[in-house]
Amino acid sequence: MSTIQHLIGGREVGSAETFDTLNPATGEVLARVASGGQDEVNAAVAAAKAAFPAWAATPVKERARLLRRLGDLIAAHVPELAELETRDCGQVIGQTKKALIPRAADNFYYFAELIQHQHGETYDSDTGHLNYTLWQPVGVVALISPWNVPFMTATWKTAPCLAFGNTAVMKMSELSPLTATRLAQLVLEAGIPPGVFNLVHGYGHTAGEALVSHPDVRAISFTGSTVTGNRIVKSAGLKKFSMELGGKSPFVIFDDADYERALDAALFMIFSNNGERCTAGSRIIVQHSIYERFVADFAARAAKLTVGDPLDPNTIIGPMISRGHYEKVTRYIELGQEEGARLVLGGGKPEVAAHLAGGNWVQPTVFADVDNRMTIAQDEIFGPVPCLIPFKTEEEAVRIANDTPYGLSSYLWTENTGRVLRMAKAIEAGMTFVNSQNVRDLRQPFGGTKASGTGREGNHYSYEVFCEAKNVAISY
Ligand code: NAD
Repeated sequence: MSTIQHLIGGREVGSAETFDTLNPATGEVLARVASGGQDEVNAAVAAAKAAFPAWAATPVKERARLLRRLGDLIAAHVPELAELETRDCGQVIGQTKKALIPRAADNFYYFAELIQHQHGETYDSDTGHLNYTLWQPVGVVALISPWNVPFMTATWKTAPCLAFGNTAVMKMSELSPLTATRLAQLVLEAGIPPGVFNLVHGYGHTAGEALVSHPDVRAISFTGSTVTGNRIVKSAGLKKFSMELGGKSPFVIFDDADYERALDAALFMIFSNNGERCTAGSRIIVQHSIYERFVADFAARAAKLTVGDPLDPNTIIGPMISRGHYEKVTRYIELGQEEGARLVLGGGKPEVAAHLAGGNWVQPTVFADVDNRMTIAQDEIFGPVPCLIPFKTEEEAVRIANDTPYGLSSYLWTENTGRVLRMAKAIEAGMTFVNSQNVRDLRQPFGGTKASGTGREGNHYSYEVFCEAKNVAISY
């Protein structure tokens, strides 16, 4: 079996230690991967630092051209990348092929365009100074990604990072290293100079810690759990941060909502991506007058979702990423029952084909009559396990929606305009979708409040993470 290497300074580099990456649907070993630590991180940061001056000085038009070429290469490799992603992380092929990998190409097209319109502010002041703002690249940036939508997240970080003239050292999750490796290869194929993008594989406590605490790393764009985000803030010292962390997003449905559309969207927001989605609508908060009907319809529809081989285009729900994550999700399913929530669907293992016997399978599981103070309503389960919670009044809906440490996304279903305006203000979240599932437009500021993180990425919001604003004041 070949070993997947790091990519440092444009060259493949190995490590004495390795780890295996497994197919979560079968348990088979997909590849052996070099496991980096301090030495590999030092080499990657040195390569990124050396490449920085020339890359930062590369004309914007040329950087944009190279990023567009990278986007084209990704677009040309969608079937291959989608299959690799599905094998490595268990996201179903219908999603990886149609949505997640094509979106990765869009990330590069988008930021290639954006940098050509980037400009600072200019103003004259009473003191006889002309002020202007320069947005300058920060230098070497650490890009740390989780396993749930690995290629999309990796490119969502790499595109702005490189577009603004920074160089990067990426550490992908040890559970899903394969498509990031292809990304590093395609970066070179696109003609982006060696050292501008470097990839070190490894565990969080080894490669990850070494990277975030490295003194030559100037900024960290991190996506992952709130626990790890807190830990990184402590180890990293004074650096620029973007922290895209966990969520427990409320999905609030009033009795005047378009019932069928709300039902469809509620199902999509918790069961797509196997429920392993930071913006999952995992607390479905339903007005009491339609609550029992909704519980029955939701459970009936969820029971029909096909669980199985993620490479089959008809599959809706694939496996959990790892044995450890499977155990975490099933422990929450037990806990929900211990806490007294009503189990209306699932709770066990789905039947799967013989070749999938070694996979990490969880049945779509629905809990109703959940009290928002229960652990299953407070913790991020990150699996196909929604909590259905009844409410009576608008005030109660807001209180329940906000009664969580998290504040990433939120969903609101009602035809009452005044209520939309009041609740959009009152809900503590970085994003509110009204009468809609999560529909991403790359111009939106993406990010969360409270324990869901700091900073926003997308559009000009990405300047704050990947650029330094320098003011120049000229006396006249
Ligand atoms: P995780 O925090 O365990 O790991 C994320 C990454 O951090 C991995 O690459 C890991 O190796 C690395 N890491 C771990 N410890 C580290 C350390 N001490 N120093 C540096 N790096 C370290 O998260 P996960 O289980 O891979 O991903 C799931 C989590 O990610 C969920 O909480 C989910 O909500 C969150 N997530 C958030 C968003 C968002 O945009 N807000 C998007 C996707 C996933």
